[in-house]
Amino acid sequence: MELSRRDFLKASGVGIGGVFLFNAFNPDSVLAKPVATLPLKKRVGEKVTICPYDASGCGFLVATENVNGRAVVFNIEGDPDHPINRGAACAKGASMRQLSADNPWRLSKVLYRAPGASDWEEKDWDWAIEQVARRLKDTRDASFITRDDNGNVVNRTEAIANLGGSALDNEECYLLSKLTRALGVVYLEHHARI
Ligand code: SF4
Repeated sequence: MELSRRDFLKASGVGIGGVFLFNAFNPDSVLAKPVATLPLKKRVGEKVTICPYDASGCGFLVATENVNGRAVVFNIEGDPDHPINRGAACAKGASMRQLSADNPWRLSKVLYRAPGASDWEEKDWDWAIEQVARRLKDTRDASFITRDDNGNVVNRTEAIANLGGSALDNEECYLLSKLTRALGVVYLEHHARI
């Protein structure tokens, strides 16, 4: 018997749909059971938010408490009512508390370790920003290529790379792309794409 591509797809769809319906109406099937709601560890008037890390868009609850008139984050956990993650969190999402400005382990000062040195020195932000700008410009100027081996105009540097991370928001990614492309950077990536 001849089976056209259309007939094959129709038959496959009916087969898959039949299996799905059978499972949905079978009381012993996992598909037929309601998703259990996970109990929250604390329920203190949390605010809902979305994980900043990737495009899965998992939902989280952020709880704060008032410390000397300031809202301080003390708990972040998966939102059991969110349709995507239903209270769950992967390792990255579960560590979101570390991004909070209240994280006591977060560095708040510039620390610099000179080449070959074993100790860190405390520096101010003006010094650090000047250093980054100076080294970026010097590296770019020393490595700039205007034409490739075939004489094509390329205007690029192959000595600098930019790797974005999930903690960057859309606007920061946009600004970084603009800055690095203007410098001639061609190795421009984001860890979510690797
Ligand atoms: S919790 Fe994990 S899977 Fe969900 S959005 Fe965040 S990083 Fe992605």
